[in-house]
Amino acid sequence: MKGVARPPNNAKAKEWAFVNKAKGYVLEGKNLRQLIRDNLHMFDGEKIKTIASGLQKLTTPAQQRRLDAIDDPLWIDAMVKLLARENWFRWFDSGDLQSLQMLHNIAEVARRTPHCRHWLATRERLFVSKFLKLSVVPDNLCIRVSATFPDVPVKPITGVNAGNVHYKQPPVGQPCPAPQQNGKCETCRACWDKGVLTVSYKEH
Ligand code: SF4
Repeated sequence: MKGVARPPNNAKAKEWAFVNKAKGYVLEGKNLRQLIRDNLHMFDGEKIKTIASGLQKLTTPAQQRRLDAIDDPLWIDAMVKLLARENWFRWFDSGDLQSLQMLHNIAEVARRTPHCRHWLATRERLFVSKFLKLSVVPDNLCIRVSATFPDVPVKPITGVNAGNVHYKQPPVGQPCPAPQQNGKCETCRACWDKGVLTVSYKEH
């Protein structure tokens, strides 16, 4: 999403090794599962770097393919371990939900990391609507359905939050202060705050 600052939670390579794959790479599901099985016991400290490095070597360019590996239940365990010491986490610096199951898995990660606040921006409103019929959004997970076009506010979904993008028109929602903060969130946590119903990001 353009205009959105990177999160302040020091999104280290260890997180992005699993989460940021949607930037044009897909992990081979079979290999990922085996790798996690083989290494889950050592998901801490420096060892994670070895695992992340191994994962990188298993990537293949295939942006259009589903990220099936993320649907694997072992991925939940891995993410819970990786977020053990994180207090703020943003899902999808780029990319988006790939399935309803993926949203269920992310919600489960949030439930199992109550110390951490999660922010999930998505344009996959169908997955969100289906999820809301089947489950409850954890208190520490703020889902923001995102506008597709600048200056065209997103149609809200009851039960979740929203994110718009303003360009030539005034913001619809609380304006993101990142452009005045060198593109950083600094102390702002509006996107994680369910009390902020809608945030509007400046297109640039
Ligand atoms: S509104 Fe606040 S938390 Fe959200 S991206 Fe902008 S600066 Fe960061």
